[in-house]
Amino acid sequence: METKESILQRVFGYSAFRGGQEALIDAQLSGRDAFGIMPTGGGKSLCYQIPALLLEGVTLVISPLISLMRDQVMALKNAGVAAAYINSSLTPNQIRLVYRNIRSGMYKIIYVAPERLLTDGFLEAIQTRKVSLVTVDEAHCISQWGQDFRPSYLKIVDFLNIVQPRPVVSAFTATATELVRQDIAEILKLRDPLRIVTGFDRPNLRFEVQKPAQKLPALLELVRQRRDKAGIVYCATRKAVEEVCRNLQLNDIAATRYHAGLPDEERRENQEDFLYDRKTVMVATNAFGMGIDKSNVSYVIHYNMPQSLESYYQEAGRAGRDGSKAECILLFAPGDVQTAKYLIQHPAGAGELTEEEQLQKQRQDLERLDVMVGYCKTQECLRGYILDYFGQAHEKICGNCGNCGADMEERDITDDARQILICVQRMNARLGYSLGMTSVVLVLLGSRDKRLLTLGLDKLSAYGQLRKSGKDTVRAMAESLESQGYLETDPVHGGVSLTERAREVLFEGKTVSMRFPKGRTAAAARQETTADQDLLTMLKALRWKIAKQEGTPAYIIFTNASLEDMARKTPTTLEDFRKVSGVGNAKVQRYGETFVDAIAEYLLEHGRG
Ligand code: ADP
Ligand code: ZN
Repeated sequence: METKESILQRVFGYSAFRGGQEALIDAQLSGRDAFGIMPTGGGKSLCYQIPALLLEGVTLVISPLISLMRDQVMALKNAGVAAAYINSSLTPNQIRLVYRNIRSGMYKIIYVAPERLLTDGFLEAIQTRKVSLVTVDEAHCISQWGQDFRPSYLKIVDFLNIVQPRPVVSAFTATATELVRQDIAEILKLRDPLRIVTGFDRPNLRFEVQKPAQKLPALLELVRQRRDKAGIVYCATRKAVEEVCRNLQLNDIAATRYHAGLPDEERRENQEDFLYDRKTVMVATNAFGMGIDKSNVSYVIHYNMPQSLESYYQEAGRAGRDGSKAECILLFAPGDVQTAKYLIQHPAGAGELTEEEQLQKQRQDLERLDVMVGYCKTQECLRGYILDYFGQAHEKICGNCGNCGADMEERDITDDARQILICVQRMNARLGYSLGMTSVVLVLLGSRDKRLLTLGLDKLSAYGQLRKSGKDTVRAMAESLESQGYLETDPVHGGVSLTERAREVLFEGKTVSMRFPKGRTAAAARQETTADQDLLTMLKALRWKIAKQEGTPAYIIFTNASLEDMARKTPTTLEDFRKVSGVGNAKVQRYGETFVDAIAEYLLEHGRG
């Protein structure tokens, strides 16, 4: 019998669920509504695709964007699932064909644009089937307080009122705002939904804010350093898109562009050029990307600051969706704040709201802007700043953002901190006055300095206690204790003494930590025994060739993460090939032999066969 685990492995080629997936799947399978709040790239699709394959009847997925539907359906078909989509990109004849296939029960999963739900043709076709599940993707589009309100999403409610018996309803979004989350559940009339908010952290993404004096040359440099990688450059306005794209092209970068001012045809072409890796850089406004599932985007650069941290995280989150390392870089200039304010005060398409509602929305948007500006200015961990906004606990130092530096890590120094504090306390008690930081450090190191010996400080129990740590480390720890408010230096004569707070560490069990340059941990070392780069290049070329033959984007065949795993595991039998992450049955059958043969040949040539 098929189970959710067997589908996960057989169809999608994954061996374990990610956080939240299993519970959300179980809820829908047991007939309960579900509401999943997960970051972009968190794995929402599987949460409804797996129930869709296990439930009898069909599942409808409502989704706002044509590109998203096409992408998902392409990926599903490639995994051997009978799926289809209905939206305005199909001709009337194609739509009739899909309706016929619905009636004959051909599909398990149908992606539908919300405008389509209440049309006669669709209703007639779908009423011949049992609809087991209706899933609303990008569900925040239903709330007018969200970033992407779509009035057509309200049609979902009318549709749900018609379908008998009422199907299970599930909704998914990456939104952070509680107001919008409540709106979704209320407007969709979810019935006692299992609501799960998963971790919002995307550890594979590296965050950075740069403040270049001139953005254009800085951008060019960044893009050049990543020449063979796919990336998105987001700009705040159409004008900026035009200018930046032209500039990159003039510098021999394979760039293309996307914004709402371009004719449909050109937009579609440009998007495909990017999806199919014919162009490596997409320069776009935020009109590009919602639902773009291109999984091999290695970097997202924001040429301008977005209007909210929520938008930023969603746009930046389009990097590294397959889980491989990726970068999110924001180029900040003070002028960006003015541009964002202007855009908030002159919103497009606010006609749906009353004047009062517009004002309320504007106030909220300005508050969101403040949070965004805070991100650009903070000295603290950028990832931490984002996770705070999403209400999630986190380490103080992530070690993978521009403010932490990849080479720093947080370490507990409580024991040493106590020694230092005790040392200062005893020195001051013995002398009746205080010495400077250098003397404190020398005592802790057990120095034979004449002055210390004359003062009898070598008699203190703290004397020499931190000899093993070395001078630089002891000094760094002492300074950190000062900056954390446990020690203070007298501004006049430079003597060091304890503050009131020091007792928290000495008597109340408070722990102390600080940032150190990172020593290579065992886990990090293991991570680094990564793929053979030449083999990976060969596998990518092979994927590219197949993609050309089949006319699909390369990432639909295998994600970068899959190819990396393949290059690590070097499978030479179909059985081993199946163990590669992202390889399900359909892919073993379709591509198994080709890849296994190519890998075996490569190993032979390199004397490893
Ligand atoms: P979202 O819609 O939440 O932005 P997706 O559903 O597109 O995210 O998933 C992002 C990527 O993660 C996809 O490449 C998907 O195949 C992969 N993925 C999803 N679930 C798992 C899992 N359990 N194990 C490994 N990879 C997964
Ligand atoms: Zn950080």
